[in-house]
Amino acid sequence: MKILVINAGSSSLKYQLIDMDGEKMLAKGLCGRIGIDGGYFDHKTADGYHTHYDVQMKDHTAAFAEVKKALTEGEGKVIDSFDEVTAIGHRIVQGGAIFDKSVLVDEKVIADIESLIPLAPLHNAAHVQGIRAAIETFGKDVPEVVVFDTSFHATMPPKAYLWGLPYEYYEKYAVRRYGFHGTSHRFVSKRCAELLGKPDAKGTKIITCHIGNGSSLAAIKDGKVIDTTMGLTPLDGFMMGSRSGAVDPSAITFIMEKEGLSPAEMDEILNKKSGMLGISGVSSDDRDVTKAMTEGHEMAKLAWDMREYQILKYIGGFVTALGGVDAIVFTAGIGENQIQLRKEIMENLAYMGMTLNEENNNTRGQEIEISGADSAVRAFVIPTNEELVIARDTKAIVEAL
Ligand code: AMP
Repeated sequence: MKILVINAGSSSLKYQLIDMDGEKMLAKGLCGRIGIDGGYFDHKTADGYHTHYDVQMKDHTAAFAEVKKALTEGEGKVIDSFDEVTAIGHRIVQGGAIFDKSVLVDEKVIADIESLIPLAPLHNAAHVQGIRAAIETFGKDVPEVVVFDTSFHATMPPKAYLWGLPYEYYEKYAVRRYGFHGTSHRFVSKRCAELLGKPDAKGTKIITCHIGNGSSLAAIKDGKVIDTTMGLTPLDGFMMGSRSGAVDPSAITFIMEKEGLSPAEMDEILNKKSGMLGISGVSSDDRDVTKAMTEGHEMAKLAWDMREYQILKYIGGFVTALGGVDAIVFTAGIGENQIQLRKEIMENLAYMGMTLNEENNNTRGQEIEISGADSAVRAFVIPTNEELVIARDTKAIVEAL
């Protein structure tokens, strides 16, 4: 069974074709700048073929035509025709309180995803475009499944997902913590439970640290999320590449008043100009900030220290929320590759009996246990694979039809 995994953004479309026999990625790529000038297409196959060229795509349907060409023709071809694609799995950012699991797409599901657009204006609107373009391309006979970033967090209790605001805003607008990166937290926590020798996750207390451009932590008990750092949107929690993370709410209204900023302008600052970029002034990319720090850039060092300190505070809070912790998992671009950050975090957790296996920690992007043999808490690097989670859910739903 071959499944095409789609992540549609407002002007982009990422795809990955996965052969579920052996769970092998066959090809993946990106349609960039859809509907705007400077469009491009990038396609890579598992055997190392790579092509990148400029092409204007007027909409997501045009992007799918480009994907079809790349997958079925020329040197980067991995299938003979789109008929070989059994099903499509779509990544959806916001499932709100409606979706606590992945589901098969029908008109009602599309309408429900549309109804959540106010909670994730950029993302959900683009996802609907992606679903409609896929239906147009593949026809109604090819099943489409939607997998939500939020649904793994649906198990949080109200005491974790509500804020101390007038309750009516929750009732009127569904303002609450939803949490994101759910597919990643699910994938790595499940794998961690296996590594702990408890594949059903019963009796396990795990903290998963998804640290990438966007970052979040989740506290997972018996395989179920009890708390997470991201909130109504992927802005809450600790400092990220260009996102602020948690800020005293009145600091925001104060700045808006002083600078005469509209909500949209403030939102742009909090999402695009804050975090590691906002403090260091160097970049939102961790590699640039780290390089600057090593070269003696003081503000890069401050940004680095702030992020680490904030992560440690959340870990401490989550250990209390869980009533202890068996294992901590590092994943995503930074979590899988940032040796120094992992080392410093773990050294700061010595008070809970954490020890580091320095040699194992000196690796990047591979599954490995990085805590010492004598450590009271185990720690792992587990590379995430959100596309595979989407493909697995899609397969399960299609097989049950
Ligand atoms: P993600 O959002 O998960 O793709 O992660 C992107 C972040 O991971 C960026 O800040 C990158 O700088 C960082 N990253 C990716 N690869 C590496 C690497 N080899 N070493 C250090 N950081 C990396």
